[in-house]
Amino acid sequence: MKKASIVFIVSMLWSGIAFAQLKPRPDAFPSEPENLEKRVITMATTVDEMASWDRYPTYNTYLTMMARWAETFPTLCHVDTIGTSIQGRLILSMYIAPLRPSGTSPETGEELEERPEFFYSSTIHGDEVTGYVMMLRLIDTLLTSYGISPELTDLMNRTRISINPLANPDGTYHNSDTTIRGAQRENADGIDLNRNFPNPFFPAKTTIPQENQAMIDYFTEHRFRLSANLHGGAEVMNYPWDSFTSRDNPHPEAEWWIDVCKRFVDTSRTYNNSHFRDTYTCGYTAGGDWYVISGGRQDYVNAVHNCLEMTMEISTQKTLSSDRLPEYWYFLAPSFINYIAEIHNLPQDVSINPTHDRELTLGPNPTTGIITVSGAEGATIELRDLQGRTILTQEASQSNTLNISHLNSGIYFLRIDGETIKIIKL
Ligand SMILES: [Zn+2]
Repeated sequence: MKKASIVFIVSMLWSGIAFAQLKPRPDAFPSEPENLEKRVITMATTVDEMASWDRYPTYNTYLTMMARWAETFPTLCHVDTIGTSIQGRLILSMYIAPLRPSGTSPETGEELEERPEFFYSSTIHGDEVTGYVMMLRLIDTLLTSYGISPELTDLMNRTRISINPLANPDGTYHNSDTTIRGAQRENADGIDLNRNFPNPFFPAKTTIPQENQAMIDYFTEHRFRLSANLHGGAEVMNYPWDSFTSRDNPHPEAEWWIDVCKRFVDTSRTYNNSHFRDTYTCGYTAGGDWYVISGGRQDYVNAVHNCLEMTMEISTQKTLSSDRLPEYWYFLAPSFINYIAEIHNLPQDVSINPTHDRELTLGPNPTTGIITVSGAEGATIELRDLQGRTILTQEASQSNTLNISHLNSGIYFLRIDGETIKIIKL
C-alpha cells in the first residue's frame, strides 16, 4: 500500500474516533454476566421446536440438528469435528461443498481444491449466543436453498464453506446441557479463549487451552482465506489488528477491510437502520482503536494462517431474549451471505492458490535473524514491514541469505516475483 493512502486511512480513522461516542469495549473486560431475569429464554428440546428459530437449542438438539442436516444433504455437506471441549462436548463444523449438479461430470478432488475456503465461527465467548443461532440458521438456509436460489447455489458451487456455530460449548452450557441460562464467557477452566491464542507479534510461552489447540489444528489442516469470529455485547464490525492501534500499525489491507465493513453495515441497515450504532456511528472500527487486546483469534489467524479474519460484534445484548432472534436474522442474513461472497473479491496480495513456476524454498520461519531463500534466481526480493514500507531489496542469485536480526520482533512480508510470504521475526 502506498504511503499516501495510509495517511488517508489513518486520518479518516482518527476523525472517526474524534466524533464517535467511545464506549468501553465490553469484550475487553472480565466477564460481566447480563441480568437475564427479565429475558425470555426458551429452549428447544427437539429439532421441530427450532422450526421458527425463536428458541435456543439444548446441547442435544444442537447435535441432532447437525447430524440431521448431514443425513438429509449428503451430497452437499458433512460434519467435521474440530475437537472436544474440556468437559468432552463436541466442537463441530458444517462443511458445505456441493458436488457438481447432476448432469455434469463428477468433481475430482483437484477441482474442489480450486474453490477458496471460507470459515464462520461463533460463540467463543459462551454467553454471546446470538451468533450461535444465526449460524445454525445460515447452515439451514444454505442447504435448503441449493438448487432453488440461483445466487446461493452459485455461491456454494464456487466456495467451500465451513461453519462452526459453537466454539465454546462448555461456556454456553455451563449450567447444564438443557439450558443456556447461566452461560459463561470462559471455558470450563475459567479461561477466556479469545485472549489465549498465540500472540504472533510478541511471542511468549503460553499454555494453549484445549479448545484453542483444536481450532489451531483445524486452521492448519484447511486453507481458509476469509473468516469471521462472531461475538455479542456490542454492534460493531471489528477488523484487524486488535494488538495495535491503526496509527501504530495499520493492517496491510486496511482499505479493503473498511470497504468490506461498510458493505456489511450498509446492507444490514437497509433492513434495520437502528443497528450497528452503539459503539461507532459508522458501525466499524480497527480493533485496536476501540481497545487493544492480546491473544485474540483474529490477529493470530491473520498473521499466521494468511487468512483474513475479522470479529463481528452482532448484538448489543450478549444473550438476546429468544423471541428476538428472528428479528436479528432478518437484519443480518443478507450481510452474512454477502460476506461469504467477499472471498471472491480478496485483495490482490492475498493469493488463494498461488501459481508460480518457481520452486521457492525459504526458512527458517519463524526466524531469529538469518533466512535462506533458494529458487528465486532472477527475481527481486523485497522485504516490507506491516505498514507496507520497503525495508530491504536485493536481486536474487542462486542461494540467498537475508539477515534481519537487527529488526524488531514481529511480522514482515517478503515479496518475490509477485508472491507474498509472511515472515515472523522472533
Ligand atoms: Zn466476545
